[in-house]
Amino acid sequence: MRIDKMLANLGYGSRKDVKQLLKSGAVEVNGNKVKDAKQQVNPEMDQVTLHGEEVVYKEFIYLLMNKPQGVISATEDSEHETVVDLLEPDDLVFSPFPVGRLDKDTEGLLLLTNDGQLAHRLLSPKKHVPKTYFAVINSEVTEEDIVAFKKGVILDDGYETKPGELTILKAGITSDIELTITEGKFHQVKRMFEAVGKRVIYLQRISMGPLLLDESLELGEYRELTDEELESLM
Ligand code: URA
Repeated sequence: MRIDKMLANLGYGSRKDVKQLLKSGAVEVNGNKVKDAKQQVNPEMDQVTLHGEEVVYKEFIYLLMNKPQGVISATEDSEHETVVDLLEPDDLVFSPFPVGRLDKDTEGLLLLTNDGQLAHRLLSPKKHVPKTYFAVINSEVTEEDIVAFKKGVILDDGYETKPGELTILKAGITSDIELTITEGKFHQVKRMFEAVGKRVIYLQRISMGPLLLDESLELGEYRELTDEELESLM
């Protein structure tokens, strides 16, 4: 591959910007300065550095974040901080975007990637990818709720949800539950509880398909998927 294409693909600017970088002598291949944009490199074999820092070639990036409350699941927003604002510059060059949305006040597992095909597969309603949430509910969750969710409940807009699997972890003045759903309607978990006269007071996503929330990540932290996690998604 041409060196200018490799660097442009990695997000270091347009082919024209990259040409300037090369001209300035900032790029070395295997320890030799390269100024010719047409120079061929093998991204897998050759060591490329920019201003002395190694450039690692990969096309896609897959990041697992523990999303905190208060940030929105978007790439940009005029008013609020976004999940992308939490990323390091080295990861931003890949232009990752969140796969699906969590509400501003929802915490937990969020995948960010620039792999559009994977995102599409995970979000496609036809694929029924299960998502599990932990939630605290403002009142007592009952066996009737389990039965109702299993059957599907009618949301405020008349939509009848697909079956959801509700598990009661603790029932009382407030209740702790887990709910697995295979769809992703707007505010779905909150609206399912509203349909049975209850309110979600805390919501956290703990899994999406084979991916589990990494409890060792502090809120707002993220890491790349492991090879095993990535394989489980392919
Ligand atoms: N359901 C909701 O109500 N909110 C989320 O953020 C995710 C699922």
